[in-house]
Amino acid sequence: MNDTNPVDILALGAHPDDAELGCGGTLIKLKKLGYKTGIVDLTEGELGSRGTVEKRYEESAVASKLLQLDFRYNLKIPDGNVEVNEQNKNKMIRLIRKTKPKIILAPFHEDRHPDHIHSSQLITESWFYAGVKKILPEIPPHRPFRILYYMAKYEFIPSFVIDISDEYELKFKALAAYKSQFYNPEWPQEQTFISSRWFMDSVDFRARHFGWMAGVKYGEPFWIRECMAIEDPVPIFSRTIM
Ligand SMILES: [Zn+2]
Repeated sequence: MNDTNPVDILALGAHPDDAELGCGGTLIKLKKLGYKTGIVDLTEGELGSRGTVEKRYEESAVASKLLQLDFRYNLKIPDGNVEVNEQNKNKMIRLIRKTKPKIILAPFHEDRHPDHIHSSQLITESWFYAGVKKILPEIPPHRPFRILYYMAKYEFIPSFVIDISDEYELKFKALAAYKSQFYNPEWPQEQTFISSRWFMDSVDFRARHFGWMAGVKYGEPFWIRECMAIEDPVPIFSRTIM
């Protein structure tokens, strides 16, 4: 699975498991709808307090199978040092042009973790330059219409919420594949912020909260910089709930 191919949806995360947390339910849903999906992790997560790089590759392979991804790939940018520089932009531009996604999913630009902030900026700049044909002219340009930003720690007012009520259970199974990272009472090493029960509960109550705000059971929130044009508002807004 460690190669890239053209896909409809390309989800990008700073660390292995970021995409599962922020948009795992959406990726499962899009796969069910018949779209090709891939995740690219920018770093190998080598600074993580628990587990090893090898362990995290094993865990992300299990999660990737559950999400039925068409590929999973790692850009091997140093963890804790996701620089917005020419080398990393060129890596990202090559990736976008090779995978030719219709939509990119990326971390929101304001966050507690600096890698998430810098990844968001690196992805956004590269997304733009991927459409500039005189940059790396040997590869044809490709710039998807929109980047959809998913939520990590810091919250935003969503541009829209994707209903993941039917995908919620499988999303949590995929998260549970990261045995060294998330809540796992059998893991012998020290607790971390993300390995606490409290953290996993927050993933659950956030899905419930944004689902509630959107009128569905569970939801994943997204933000876009521009406006969204809707052809037919009736099927979207005509539903009654009581
Ligand atoms: Zn992360």
